Amino acid sequence: MAVTAAQKSLLVPVQSLKGIGEKRAELLNRFGIRTVHDLLTHFPRRYVDRSRIAKIADLKLQSQVTAVGQVVRFSIRGGRKPRFELVLRDDSGELKCVWFHGAHYLKKAFTIGEWLAVHGKVRFFNGLQMAHPEFDRLSDDRNVRKLHTGSIIPLYASTAELSEVGLDSRGLRRLISQLLTEYSSAIEENLPEDVLDRYRLVSRRAAINQIHFPDSEEQRKAAVRRLKFEELFYLELMMALRRAHRDAKVQGIRFAEVGQRTRELISRLPFSLTEAQRRVLREIWEDMRSDRAMNRLLQGDVGSGKTVVALTAMLIAVENGFQAALMAPTEILAEQHYLTFKNWLEGMDVRMALLVGGLPGSERRRLLEEIAAGEVDMVIGTHALIQEDVAFHKLGLVVVDEQHRFGVLQRARLRFKGQHPDVLVMTATPIPRTLALTVYGDLDVSVLDEKPQERKPVKTVWRYESKRKEIYEFVRSEVEKGRQAYIVFPLVEESEKLDLRAATESYNKLKSSVFEGLSVALIHGRMKTEEKDAVMAAFKRGEIQVLVSTTVIEVGIDVPNATVMVIEHAERFGLSQLHQLRGRVGRGSEQSYCILVAYPPVGQVARKRLQTMASTSDGFAIAEMDLKLRGPGEFFGVKQHGLPRLKIADLLEDYAILERARHEAFRIVREDPKLEKPRHRMVREFFLQHYKDRFQLGKVA
Ligand code: ADP
Ligand code: MG
Repeated sequence: MAVTAAQKSLLVPVQSLKGIGEKRAELLNRFGIRTVHDLLTHFPRRYVDRSRIAKIADLKLQSQVTAVGQVVRFSIRGGRKPRFELVLRDDSGELKCVWFHGAHYLKKAFTIGEWLAVHGKVRFFNGLQMAHPEFDRLSDDRNVRKLHTGSIIPLYASTAELSEVGLDSRGLRRLISQLLTEYSSAIEENLPEDVLDRYRLVSRRAAINQIHFPDSEEQRKAAVRRLKFEELFYLELMMALRRAHRDAKVQGIRFAEVGQRTRELISRLPFSLTEAQRRVLREIWEDMRSDRAMNRLLQGDVGSGKTVVALTAMLIAVENGFQAALMAPTEILAEQHYLTFKNWLEGMDVRMALLVGGLPGSERRRLLEEIAAGEVDMVIGTHALIQEDVAFHKLGLVVVDEQHRFGVLQRARLRFKGQHPDVLVMTATPIPRTLALTVYGDLDVSVLDEKPQERKPVKTVWRYESKRKEIYEFVRSEVEKGRQAYIVFPLVEESEKLDLRAATESYNKLKSSVFEGLSVALIHGRMKTEEKDAVMAAFKRGEIQVLVSTTVIEVGIDVPNATVMVIEHAERFGLSQLHQLRGRVGRGSEQSYCILVAYPPVGQVARKRLQTMASTSDGFAIAEMDLKLRGPGEFFGVKQHGLPRLKIADLLEDYAILERARHEAFRIVREDPKLEKPRHRMVREFFLQHYKDRFQLGKVA
């Protein structure tokens, strides 16, 4: 396809720009900036405008502020660990800025009399002081002169390396300002006109000009809104195209019927399915009987009953002559599923195998042969399932439990063990629907939004470690009433050994002191499979009263009589992990308790996590708070999902825009799957230029 002359010029590589030599180009590339377009979409990270600059005399302690002033003096202080001090003055007063490293470099970086904008937290330490402020040099820049007349000055993110070659915030500002004069006319619209109209979006050219050098705050906002929409639109367009591609190309399995054994299973369950479980099973069945390959995410909070849904789907596959596989993130969980299934399917003609790591060679070989020969109907396992040498005879359905524990590629590897098998992935991480659809790419989403009856919320408190004695007394009293308890210790990878020692030592101590006379056992990830099995089985049978554990019990374990959970070092855990752990109790009809034990100092964020746990058991609310505290990137492992990095939009904050952008993108692909219509020409071109690589990646995933 022809690329228009105007578009092409935005793709000019930075090295061919005036004043950008090899060195600068190389550093820009390393920073992710390769073309003029990349520079023009390197948006300001902040602005200084006169209305928002605080007078030094009015600075408030502890708040994040931007101050602008002239450098009046600076010096290196202190002997062995020199610090750099710089004093900034405006017409109201003086502000001291301090850096505790890089003194010698900084000394060369400033000149007396130049104008600086500094941004940071203000503290009182022999006068007002800002430590390690972000700073921007403003002097010698035509934009700064405009500050007095009410202009808004953009500040740009840069790196130390770029700063050294003159491309600090100020350098970038000059460069971009100059590029805008030269290339502005080459910025073409990339959204269809009707979309622009519908959402009252400003043109792309106006937006890019105004986001860098806004004429007013309103115009800046309009530019931001337009560019966010654009970014989310293209993200969703990618999703829409991936899905269209899948539907067109991939011939899935058409499962013919729900058989007798499946009906039998449902009638013999010790409970009746919730309305939500029935609805989700209908959705899954609709997928399975169609010839599209199912690719569905089942979302349900801990305890919502995902397992039985998985088993039912697997049984349907088996009854239609296919094999079904379930992959769980830990051995303990795989074994539990295996045992549950065996129990529920007892007496039915379904051949099951458990495939986990560390099986004796001969046993493993025998299992693999049976699986390959089709002598096994259901395989339940861990990562061991996706080893190279595991081959299926006729794999029709793949289930991935607790999918957030697996990467995209691991999921794909299991899928490739069959000929376009149907795929069901399950997660206890509840996130808003459009967000889930976006983050999980081309998955359909089903939600278990109802929990089985008779569940009382888990009473949750957090306490300081100093209350340990009372806590353990309480545990003892519950256990003496016939209940069982978990005591969980964290296991962080960096110090696995140390933590293991902590858990082991505490176990020994607990056994011989507070819990003397009770049956106490220890379980952790380093134990042999058989040992773990034996402990878990004994705990299930009620022979063990107190189970001291590392986080190996985090996911999925289901022992309804266990009603007390103590989480040691709760301040170290993330929110969703705490919620997962707590999900191990509150599974029966008795009142359950979760006690979070924190060791001081407990930081602000950790405190917020503990408070959230104590105040709600709603997985949705918890996930939302988790997102707030951690940011969506980390939460979803955005990289892992192969999503492009967002430059301006935020999946959470801009959720409302995301929904609209998704709506438009999917509508366009529905009407014009190849984007061939004239009014979609620009969309297609822009997509090919900027998103094509990602699109290919998506197909692998
Ligand atoms: P999760 O969604 O966390 O994987 P599970 O599938 O482990 O939850 O189910 C939690 C518990 O609830 C299990 O003991 C399961 O047998 C039970 N359960 C599942 N569905 C129902 C139901 N409809 N009514 C009562 N109990 C149920
Ligand atoms: Mg589960």
